[in-house]
Amino acid sequence: TNFVADNAPLLHNLNPEQLAAVTLPTGHALILAGAGSGKTRVLTTRIAWLLQTGRVTPGGILAVTFTNKAAKEMVVRLGTMLPVNVRGMWIGTFHGLCNRLLRAHYKLANLPSTFQILDTQDQLSAIKRLMKQFNIDDQQYPAKQTQWFIGNCKEEGLRPDAVEGHDPQTRKKVEIYALYEEQCQREGVVDFGELMLRSYELLRDHDSVREHYQRRFRHILIDEFQDTNKLQYAWIKMLSGYGAKDLAAGTSIPGGSVLAVGDDDQSIYAFRGARVGNMADFVREFGVTQQIKLEQNYRSFSNILDSANQLISHNSNRLGKDLRTDQGPGEPVRVVESPRDLDEAQWIVDEVKQLVRDGMARQEIAVLYRSNAQSRVIETALFNAAIPYRVYGGLRFFERAEIKHALAYLRLLENPNDDTSFLRVVNFPPRGIGARSLEILQDTARSSGCSLHDAVSAIPGKAGANFGAFVAKLDVLREQSQGLSLREIIDLVLDHSGLLAHFKADREGEDRVENLEELVNAAESFVSQQGFGRDAVALPVDELGVPLTQSPASQGLDPNTPATEGFIDQDSGETLSPLAAFLTHAALEAGDNQAKAGQDAVQLMTVHSAKGLEFDAVFVGGMEEGLFPHENSLSDRQGLEEERRLMYVAITRARQRLYLSFSQSRLLHGQTRYNPRSRFFEELPESALKWITSKTSGYGSSSFTPKSIAAGAGGYSAGGRFNKEDAPFASPPVPPQKEAPSHGLRVGMKVFHTKFGEGKVNLLEGKGDDARAQINFPRHGVKWLALSVAKLTPVP
Ligand code: ATP
Ligand code: MG
Repeated sequence: TNFVADNAPLLHNLNPEQLAAVTLPTGHALILAGAGSGKTRVLTTRIAWLLQTGRVTPGGILAVTFTNKAAKEMVVRLGTMLPVNVRGMWIGTFHGLCNRLLRAHYKLANLPSTFQILDTQDQLSAIKRLMKQFNIDDQQYPAKQTQWFIGNCKEEGLRPDAVEGHDPQTRKKVEIYALYEEQCQREGVVDFGELMLRSYELLRDHDSVREHYQRRFRHILIDEFQDTNKLQYAWIKMLSGYGAKDLAAGTSIPGGSVLAVGDDDQSIYAFRGARVGNMADFVREFGVTQQIKLEQNYRSFSNILDSANQLISHNSNRLGKDLRTDQGPGEPVRVVESPRDLDEAQWIVDEVKQLVRDGMARQEIAVLYRSNAQSRVIETALFNAAIPYRVYGGLRFFERAEIKHALAYLRLLENPNDDTSFLRVVNFPPRGIGARSLEILQDTARSSGCSLHDAVSAIPGKAGANFGAFVAKLDVLREQSQGLSLREIIDLVLDHSGLLAHFKADREGEDRVENLEELVNAAESFVSQQGFGRDAVALPVDELGVPLTQSPASQGLDPNTPATEGFIDQDSGETLSPLAAFLTHAALEAGDNQAKAGQDAVQLMTVHSAKGLEFDAVFVGGMEEGLFPHENSLSDRQGLEEERRLMYVAITRARQRLYLSFSQSRLLHGQTRYNPRSRFFEELPESALKWITSKTSGYGSSSFTPKSIAAGAGGYSAGGRFNKEDAPFASPPVPPQKEAPSHGLRVGMKVFHTKFGEGKVNLLEGKGDDARAQINFPRHGVKWLALSVAKLTPVP
C-alpha cells in the first residue's frame, strides 16, 4: 500500500510478520514470540510509525518496559527514528510511570508533595525499626519475611484490613503491615510496592483522573508482558478503559489500544508474583483478535539458538513457539571447568582480554551470574587486570553508605518528617547522641504521634540540646539552600553536614570522598538532562516543534483537556523542585550513574537484569548445582522450570559468542562449596558445545579432594577433548577419591549449626582438614560445610 512506500525508511527493515505487527489497526493485540525475534524492535517501531503517520501525538503514548536501561534504550532508538519530543511521551518502568502519576496528583493520592521513595534496603530498616519499637520478636518474625509479606500483599492489591489472617503468625504480620503503613504515611515515604498500589487506587477511586488518562493514552504498549503481576495487569486495565462500560451514568470512555508483547519462556519473576496467566487473561478479557507470532531470530548464531531451544524444550506447559535463524552455526558454545572460583574469574578475564584484542568493544561483552554475590570475585579479577567494568545491580552508586548519608540530609531538607533519613544521619557524623537518647526520642515521637523531628523539642537535658543542634543545623541548611542551584545545594550540604570533612579525616575514606564528589557530578548531569537549569528552561514541544501549553499547577482536572496539553509533572518542573526530582531519580534509577559516562566497560549483571538486552559475547559463570539452578528452586518442579527459563534468558543474550563456566569449589557467603556442575549441561545439544576442559574429568561425581587442588595437584583428566592450546590451567588430573568420614558424624544424624539451625546430614566426604558434610537445613536448604571450620553439634 501507499503508506508502506511513504514510510519506507521506518519500515523497510522488517519481515512481513513484523510489518504486520507494526502497522496493526487500532485495537488490542498480543505479540507472542521467542527471544531475539524483534519484539522490542516492533514495539519501538510501532510508536514511531503511529507518530509519523499522525495516528497519535506524543502525549497519547504510554509505553512500559522492564528496566530503566531498557526504557532509556527505547527513547534513544525512537530519537534516531524520527525527530520527536520524547519527554511528552510516557515511556518508562511501571515504578517510574507510577511515580509520575503520583507526583502529578499527590493531593488526591493523599501524599505530601515532597514524598520520598524508600528503596528495598530502606524499607527493610524501616520495618526493623518499627518492630523494635513495638517489641516484636525478630527471631519469630524475621524482618525480611515481613518485608516479603508486605510486598506480596501490595502486589495482590491488598491493604491490611483486606488481608485474612487465618493463623496467629499471619495475623501478627498483618498487624506489622498496618503499623508499617501508618509509619510510612506519617513520614511521607512510599516503597516500590506502594508506588504501584497507590497509583492504582488513585485511578480506581477518582473518576476524573482515570477518565482523563483513559482519554489521553490512545496507545498503551507493554514489553515483557509475561512478567507483569496481578496489580500491574489491573493497572493497565484501568488505564486502558477496559470495563469502562460498567461505569456510572453511561459515560462510555473510548479506551486506548493495548499492545502486549512477551515470551512465556522468559517469564522469570514468578517468585515476585508475576503471572504468565496474564497473557491468556488479556486475550480473553480484552477480546484480543489480533495475535502475531514472530519466529525468525535475528540475534544469535545457530549454535547459540539451538542450545537455547533444546534447553527450554525440557520445560512443560509452554505456549509453544518456533525460533529459527538464517545465520550460520557460528562459534561453538565454549564450556570450561575450573578448580576454584578465582581460576574461573581469571579465565573469564583472559578471554575478555582476547576478545578485546580481537577488536570487540568492551561494552559488547557481558558477564552474567545467577546471584549478586558472585560478582565480587569477577570484579576483583577485572580490577586487577585494569579492565574497566560496570556493575548493574548489587551495591550501586546510590546504595553506597556515604551516598545514602548525603541523600538523607538532602531528603531532610525536602521533608523534615522523613524519620528513616533522620535516624540515618542524626548521629552521623557522630555528634554525641547515644542509643539511649535515641530510644527516648523515638518513644516520645510514638506516644505523641509525631515525627522524630517534631519530637525533639520535648526532649530535656543534654540529649535535648544535641538533638536541638541537629535540627537547627537542618533548618539553617534549608534556609540557605533557598534559591540555590541543585549543585550548590549539594555542595552546601556536603560541607555543612560535616560529611565531607568526616571522610577526609578517615585514612580509608578516599573512595568515599570521591563518591561524594561524584554525587555532585551526578546532580549536574541530571540537571542538564532534565533541562532544569536556571536559564535554560526547555518547554516540551509536540512533534511539530510547537510548545505544548501547560495547564496550571492545580489538582483540578478538566476531563476535556486535549491529550497534547499534558499534565503538570516532573517535566514541567512546576510541581517538583530540581532537588526533589533528583532525589526521586536517585531512588528510582540507582545504578545508572555509577560508571563514568561514555567509558567503554565490560558489563556485569545478574541474569535477571540482563533480560531484553543483547551482547556480542556473553559469559555465564557459576554453572553449578545449587547456584544455577539455585538451591532454593530444587525442591519443586515449578521452581526448576523458572530456573530453566532464566538460563534460556541468559543464553539468548549472546549474539556471537557464548561461554559457560563452572568451578569445582567456590567461596560464597563465607563457606567453601563443592557443587557438581549444573544439570543444564545435560540439556544442551552436544553438537553445539565445545568443552575446553574435558567433560568427563574426575569431577561431577562430587568426589574429589579440594586440598589437592589448592596444593596445585588438582586439574583435569587428560581424556575427552582436552588439548593444550585450550587448557586454561597447566595442572595435572585429580584422582577421584573416597575417604572415610570423620568428626564423629554419621549420615542421617541430626545436627545443630549456630547460623542455619537444625539440619540432617545427607553425605560425608573426606577426612581430617578436608572432611566435609552435606547437610539439609529445613530453613536454609542443602549446604556443604567444611567440618574443620563449621561448628556443628549433634542433636540427640
Ligand atoms: P528479547 O526477547 O530478548 O527481548 P526481542 O524479541 O525483543 O528479544 P529485539 O531485541 O527487538 O528482540 O531484537 C533482537 C535483535 O534483532 C536486535 O538487534 C534487533 O535490532 C534485530 N532485529 C530485529 N528484527 C530485525 C530485522 N527484521 N532485520 C534485522 N535485524 C532485526
Ligand atoms: Mg525485547
